[in-house]
Amino acid sequence: MRVLICGGGIAGLTLAYWLRRRGIEPVVVEHAPHGRLGGYGIDFFGTGYDVADRMGIIDRLMPHRLPVDSVDFVDASGRAGVRLTGEILNKIIRGPHLALMHTTLEGALLEAIQDDVEIRFGETITAVRDTGAAVEIDLASGGAQRFDLLVGADGIHSKTRELIFGPEARYARYLGCRLASYSVPDRYGWGRVRAHYTEPGRQVIAYPTGKSGELIALFLFKSPHETSASRAERLDLLRSTFRGMGWITPSVLADAPASESIFMDTMTQITLPIWHRGRVALVGDACGCMTMVSAQGVSMAMAGAYVLAEALEADRDHVGAFARYHERMHTQVRRRQRTARVFARSLVPGTWAGLIAQSLVNRLVMREAFAPMLRRQFGAGSILAPQTADLRKG
Ligand SMILES: Cc1cc2nc3c(=O)[nH]c(=O)nc-3n(C[C@H](O)[C@H](O)[C@H](O)COP(=O)(O)OP(=O)(O)OC[C@H]3O[C@@H](n4cnc5c(N)ncnc54)[C@H](O)[C@@H]3O)c2cc1C
Repeated sequence: MRVLICGGGIAGLTLAYWLRRRGIEPVVVEHAPHGRLGGYGIDFFGTGYDVADRMGIIDRLMPHRLPVDSVDFVDASGRAGVRLTGEILNKIIRGPHLALMHTTLEGALLEAIQDDVEIRFGETITAVRDTGAAVEIDLASGGAQRFDLLVGADGIHSKTRELIFGPEARYARYLGCRLASYSVPDRYGWGRVRAHYTEPGRQVIAYPTGKSGELIALFLFKSPHETSASRAERLDLLRSTFRGMGWITPSVLADAPASESIFMDTMTQITLPIWHRGRVALVGDACGCMTMVSAQGVSMAMAGAYVLAEALEADRDHVGAFARYHERMHTQVRRRQRTARVFARSLVPGTWAGLIAQSLVNRLVMREAFAPMLRRQFGAGSILAPQTADLRKG
């Protein structure tokens, strides 16, 4: 069986690995000319960590952990009012946890498959014809190719989803907030901290990447506008939205790179009732984006990839396999999306009164006594059944 995977990100690379391990031939097309550079940090735990462990890549990730011991909610002078310590975080997650750059994980996944899997960088799909017996796929570089199945692992703005299920607007649920990030030089003698500073309607977060003298600045801002800014408009939009904001904001804005290289997107969930049609299925953000608020997008992308490969091995008839995959993953993702929507409502309060209330709630909740409740709400444990001996890395 040959499977074309559109998208060489977290879900696509994980799926390629597990298909290969289960005797199915994957081919990956990734529209970027090479593996991604730069990016943002992620909290990595639960099912994603479990899948990575089963792939034997944890040792490759460990040396690249972000040097962050606590999450501090700071005032304009940088003093921490509320602190989420590593100990409380451990009690919430109650299992292994890594803070990593997204690109570190992608790099390790790529390394794990690059000798065994065909990956075509700078390539994408432009049309799909499901003949019933196969999928014929037109490629941007020209020509059509036949595969047994197509899996769209091409992220929140999935082209595969658009070709098969229609426009993104049908499935997008905007959470009222936009985000942007880029790296800046550390002019501050930064410690081992991720710091959040919030004013009504806007928040700046900064943390070290682990590269000497480098920080990530992440901007969150409330916005009624769901449409993405063009690359050329991004810096002006950030400057006008964050004008007059306290803390280190003026200096991280002054250190912004060219507008075109700023990462910016809307905070939008993707809710698709069915994740497959005919010989095509979706995985990861393409069908179930939960947004950064869930802190589990990577986990669920890797879980989905693992479960899909497992289903295809168990049932070479794709109809049954896709149904089994959907049934196993859909409720898990929906549950985390619901929780993320609740958290997103209070992420960036719109008023000073809202901010004070948020600070009081944080002060109350970020204690040991609330760890079990937060753990349940997040769904922080692995959802996978214990590993079978034949697939255990030895
Ligand atoms: C600021 C931020 C912070 C986050 N923090 C966390 C966190 O702490 N923990 C966590 O678990 N998750 C976090 N997430 C979410 C997480 O990054 C995503 O859920 C996860 O990356 C989804 O994986 P994916 O493979 O589905 O999509 P992606 O990682 O987006 O990969 C999609 C891939 O498809 C490629 N592609 C796109 N279009 C095409 C096309 N037409 N043709 C070919 N290739 C294409 C892209 O170049 C990319 O390589 C965060 C997200 C953001 C934005």
